[in-house]
Amino acid sequence: MAEKKNLLPIEEPPELAQARAEMVEKQLKRRYINDPRILEVMGRIPRHIFVDERMQDAAYRDGPLPIGHEQTISQPYIVAYMTQALQLPRDNSGVVLEVGTGSGYQAAVLSQLAERVYTIERIPALAKRARQCLDLLGIDNVEIKVGDGGYGWPEHAPYDGIIVTAAAPEIPAPLKAQLKDGGRLVIPIGPRWQQELVRLHRRGDRFIEEELAPVAFVPLIGEHGWDEYQFYE
Ligand code: SAM
Repeated sequence: MAEKKNLLPIEEPPELAQARAEMVEKQLKRRYINDPRILEVMGRIPRHIFVDERMQDAAYRDGPLPIGHEQTISQPYIVAYMTQALQLPRDNSGVVLEVGTGSGYQAAVLSQLAERVYTIERIPALAKRARQCLDLLGIDNVEIKVGDGGYGWPEHAPYDGIIVTAAAPEIPAPLKAQLKDGGRLVIPIGPRWQQELVRLHRRGDRFIEEELAPVAFVPLIGEHGWDEYQFYE
């Protein structure tokens, strides 16, 4: 069984610690995020370090926030919901692929619930900042790569869980192929305003598909995603 990973302590104002505790109570517990591991981890990870210093006071609000380059850090509830939907092995032994590193916050949450996390970001400046945030917390089981995540990361496949945090027109075939037997892929599918969060559960050569909830994400850009112009048209 994988050990619980300790984060390096950071100094933080008490009001931010308080805001984080309230986020867990009001935004997660009250909306049926009931996996105690996810509640514990999100109660521990300082989300505010993943956003720009000027926006730290807003880091625990019930919504997404801009992180530059026209990208966002997802709403805390959505991070929790997608993490819960992955149903990762309960002994934290899983290997996870994330497409769309963004701020690195979702990867930090996953790092505490899996053995290893591989995450791909297409914008180099975001990947660099995400690495700095993870390093600040001493998180050393997350590997970040710059590239088009629609192709997945075959070298480390198969994955117990694959989470795509940007919207695609359909499920990228390479990601399906890199899912472990029994693993789950969670991805928003659809155009700008009307995406559906979809979960795919692999059973041998069969893929069981479920629609989970309506969502609004920025686009997955690239070969297996949208071209920017098409999405924002
Ligand atoms: N998971 C992130 C977090 O915790 O902050 C939020 C991700 S943000 C909603 C979506 C991210 O996907 C953006 O940073 C965007 O640059 C990235 N992205 C879009 N298309 C991509 C692609 N083809 N490959 C990798 N990353 C992509």
